[in-house]
Amino acid sequence: MNNDNQSCNTKIQLTPYAKPDAYGALSMPVYNSAAYEFETAEQMEEAFAGRTSDHTYSRITNPTVQFFEDRVKAISGAYSVTALNSGMAAISNVLITLAKTGSNIVTSRHLFGNTYSFFVSTLAAFGVETRFCDLTTPGNVEAKIDENTCAIFLEIITNPQMEVADLKALSAIAKKAGVPLVADTTIIPFCAFKANDFGIDIEIVSSTKYISGGATSLGGLIVDYGNFDWMASPKLHVVAKEFGKTTFTVKLRKEIHRNLGAYMTPQVAYMQNLGLETLSLRYERATKTCKQLAEQVAGLKGIESVNYTALPGNKFFEISQTQFGDHPGAMFTFNLTSREACFSFMNKLKVIRRATNLFDNKSLAIHPASTIFGGFTEAVRKEMNVSDKTIRISVGLENVEDLYADMVQAIS
Ligand SMILES: *Cc1c(COP(=O)(O)O)cnc(C)c1O
Repeated sequence: MNNDNQSCNTKIQLTPYAKPDAYGALSMPVYNSAAYEFETAEQMEEAFAGRTSDHTYSRITNPTVQFFEDRVKAISGAYSVTALNSGMAAISNVLITLAKTGSNIVTSRHLFGNTYSFFVSTLAAFGVETRFCDLTTPGNVEAKIDENTCAIFLEIITNPQMEVADLKALSAIAKKAGVPLVADTTIIPFCAFKANDFGIDIEIVSSTKYISGGATSLGGLIVDYGNFDWMASPKLHVVAKEFGKTTFTVKLRKEIHRNLGAYMTPQVAYMQNLGLETLSLRYERATKTCKQLAEQVAGLKGIESVNYTALPGNKFFEISQTQFGDHPGAMFTFNLTSREACFSFMNKLKVIRRATNLFDNKSLAIHPASTIFGGFTEAVRKEMNVSDKTIRISVGLENVEDLYADMVQAIS
């Protein structure tokens, strides 16, 4: 991980600005401007036609946001990166680009709560079907795909279930069927996980999490690797005749993203640019602490089970090691004996904060069943495998001994 991280940091630092700054500012300035001025009508025509890279209007592109996108492009090696106002904006922009009435999405029920709601409520109202299956059994996935399947969608480690699908196996099925593999990789940032190496076609990241640099702001990223043959897409094959492998980005940037209007703001891009500069250092520290804490906590009385995929004996240990190495994210869950025991634990915490969100610099604890998943019926929670006895911990940058001591006193 070390070498990779260093090269990740070098790429971040060396990404050039599009134009030299008038004052030689060392940090990319915040370009707080809705619109951009042109010398001539001809230049304006060229810019609006997309024949030059000049900015026209900040709902479409903005210099500060583009600099952030360029840095992510340099680290991930992607064909294109689009930065939006939240992770959910990224997810909705991707699926609205891919799906039309009559399309279906093959995925798991074990999804981030709003993603699940977006699929079964928002998209369903437009005649897009969601087909659920167990993504950890590739045979199930193959059986769900037909000629109207517009995407296989997954999260690389599900939350709070902590399931890990075999990405190369799913990618082989997706390729054979001519369906793009779309993955939410929020749980492990691109400095540590190379989505392209595992056949992921479109990567989605909530940059609110690790990248914002301490929960400063909301953001989302759409990362297109430019590998997919869009002639196989039920909706995009018409565009693909002209644009080939760049089809997804063309459809997204020239239509969907402009029409939905959820582009990242320059202030947020500034904060997240700063976050990027320390991303790999913070990630390395937080995941190391997370693993140590999960190991230590597993031995405590009152804890029924600890779920972290880097612990030997975990159901997904092998595949997690293969895909993510020894430090698969800075989040783990554990089960106590009852809902009451969970509430008592939560109320006693002094160092770990009671809050939702993931990958802040502060460690955070939440009881998912009564909060994030509180709006679902008990039957749906059961289908989603969200137990009343589970606590989720997102590990920050505090001293591991202080975190452990806090957990010990809160469990007792
Ligand atoms: C937080 C999160 C999202 C949504 O991101 P927002 O920035 O809150 O909109 C999506 N997927 C995962 C895995 C997340 O953790």
